[in-house]
Amino acid sequence: MNFLITLMKAIIPQRYHPICGETYIRISSFLLSVLLIGNRFICPCCGWHFRKFLRYGLHPRKNAMCPKCGSLERHRLLWLYLKNKTNLFASNLKVLHIAPEPIFQRTFKSMSNLEYISADLNSRYAMVNMDLTNISFDECLFDVILCSHVLEHVEDDRKAVKEIFRVLKPGGWAILQVPVFSELEKTVEDTAIKTPEERELAYGLKEHVRKYGIDYKDTLENAGFNVNVDQYVKSLSREIVSVFCLNRDENIYFCTKPLKSK
Ligand SMILES: [Zn+2]
Repeated sequence: MNFLITLMKAIIPQRYHPICGETYIRISSFLLSVLLIGNRFICPCCGWHFRKFLRYGLHPRKNAMCPKCGSLERHRLLWLYLKNKTNLFASNLKVLHIAPEPIFQRTFKSMSNLEYISADLNSRYAMVNMDLTNISFDECLFDVILCSHVLEHVEDDRKAVKEIFRVLKPGGWAILQVPVFSELEKTVEDTAIKTPEERELAYGLKEHVRKYGIDYKDTLENAGFNVNVDQYVKSLSREIVSVFCLNRDENIYFCTKPLKSK
């Protein structure tokens, strides 16, 4: 397989490599999905049914990733929440989606009720490239902002949250997910920790710059948000949690911007 990929790279001009890479991923994920079709699990994001999901993670978790769309437990929970607990699929909304997950972006782009913009620091998949700590949009512009598993990568997360608050309309809502370690009262963060190896040791991943505790809610409230730490997954039946293969400990950080500033 590696030989074939090397050969294709040698034959095909470099400017077409990204397109070929995406095509290869789509074909291989489709074939894998067909092989894994079954009745035990359902991915709510793509609607496919499987006998198992794929293993995924630094310490691989069984039945974590959808072979068709790549959704993980957190994506499937967020999808169900958006579908069942928000007006995202029903109202006309201007949406800013930060660091867009491909499966979500494809769907949101196609929804006629959404005026949709995706943004990332430096990604060809996002519609706009921008720094989250210096958002390139006017204040009070968006009805909805989605930002999942991004802030743990941002050095100045407080400034990023303030920027998100700034560009959200009063009365608008944002879902701002991060990995929260419920056993930690306080977020672990040390500016003396610099190298990827030190970060992995302290925070679990080389790319993370802190490990959030339950005081994450304070960070959001200090920016001005009203925060509902929604234990939505606890309201779902054991069968639903099992069939969608969700994480029973993940909460949804549903933030609203007050109509009048505090
Ligand atoms: Zn899927």
